[in-house]
Amino acid sequence: MKLKKGDTVVVTRGKDKGKQGTIEKAFASRGLVVVPGVNEYKKHVKKNVTGQASEILTMTRPLAIATVALICPKCKKQTRVGYMTTKDNRKVRVCRKCKKEI
Ligand SMILES: [Zn+2]
Repeated sequence: MKLKKGDTVVVTRGKDKGKQGTIEKAFASRGLVVVPGVNEYKKHVKKNVTGQASEILTMTRPLAIATVALICPKCKKQTRVGYMTTKDNRKVRVCRKCKKEI
């Protein structure tokens, strides 16, 4: 999984193309991420037994990871994630553009 919670991403496809946000949840096994404000839909909640009034909620659907691109926190550019092994043998993510650890 190249992206994780807290990463800033930009949507590259679909109706929310160009929108930016921060990953709130990442589902590595399914390749999905949840970005608040992106891929929203309205959910109508019917009046229920507890007497709560019906309402329309705005929900966020998970997005396929392939439809978002990382914004590097260091150079602020849309980039791709690369990997590098440090001297102390840690595998770290790096920005392909500025080569800094992210
Ligand atoms: Zn960068």
